[in-house]
Amino acid sequence: MTAAVHRPASHVERATCRGTIGSGLVMLIRASRGVALLRGSALAAALLCAASPDGASAQATPKVLLIGIDGVRPDVLAEVPTPNMDALAASGWYTAEARTTTPSVSGPSWSSMLTGVWPGKHGVTNNSFTGRDYDRWPSFLTRVERQHPELNTFAALDWLPLADVDGLSLAELDGGGPVLPASLDTRVVLNGYDLGWAEADAQLTAQAVGHLATADPDAMFVYLGNPDEISHQHASIGTEYRDAIALADLHVGMLIDAVRARPGYENEDWLVLISTDHGRLADGNHGGDSPEEMIIFILANGPVTATWPPPGSAVIVDLAVTALDHLGIVIDPGWDLDGRPLGRPR
Ligand SMILES: [Zn+2]
Repeated sequence: MTAAVHRPASHVERATCRGTIGSGLVMLIRASRGVALLRGSALAAALLCAASPDGASAQATPKVLLIGIDGVRPDVLAEVPTPNMDALAASGWYTAEARTTTPSVSGPSWSSMLTGVWPGKHGVTNNSFTGRDYDRWPSFLTRVERQHPELNTFAALDWLPLADVDGLSLAELDGGGPVLPASLDTRVVLNGYDLGWAEADAQLTAQAVGHLATADPDAMFVYLGNPDEISHQHASIGTEYRDAIALADLHVGMLIDAVRARPGYENEDWLVLISTDHGRLADGNHGGDSPEEMIIFILANGPVTATWPPPGSAVIVDLAVTALDHLGIVIDPGWDLDGRPLGRPR
């Protein structure tokens, strides 16, 4: 990944398009459609503006795709060729200085990313998921279902504990869960240990791509597990881990292409969020509070990011809240969420 600035060059086009529009500017943007100079969010903004036949600003439908890649250290990510994420960062918003949970372990970290609260609330402190309270603090996808059951939710993953509680006793089910429950509209649940992680990531990506082409998802979470597992297998952050990150970027590219190829894309306001649950040490281990384990990246791309403030002290719990905010769901203070929307002044 190459270095990226958080504020895209397309700031003016986007801000003007979403505000009160002078017809001359709309025509200017329309005339620019297809011109190579317009890229990324600028193109998306132009398409949003052009969607209305009478020149007025059309109200695009907000949609969210959260892609979670397990165990990617931002400083290693910076050294790996990742053209798809590079392009998204260049036309969007990016920080390599966000922070995850203590402990820096998958169970608590994914729980925090998906629920918007720290482990002290959701109760998951290790990968056994005992003590969880997803009844009180559900995932953002579950909140979408509760607030707007008509919206279409989707989750795809290959690390079973996020979606499967078969191995747990009835007593342990008291806190609800899994964090991605069967009540979501669509779940793709694969087992990376059985299929092999690269294969499992490829299969779930293909299913998410197919869903984007044939269904009408509003809120999506796609989990890619291969980089973390490869690093553990090789007890290293070397070649195999870096290749796995490059492969994850390929899968990101397939998902982004599928979003942009949607028949209704011109009338949709997509926010793509990409992040990870934790970093790792040079031997692949993680769970401690060193910067190598605690620092994560957050990438956001979509027309709305043109007006986002600098990252500041972004944290993993901001992701769920940002997703809800983008969908127009008002954050009830009674929910007691810890995260804050990344797009609002901090
Ligand atoms: Zn993890």
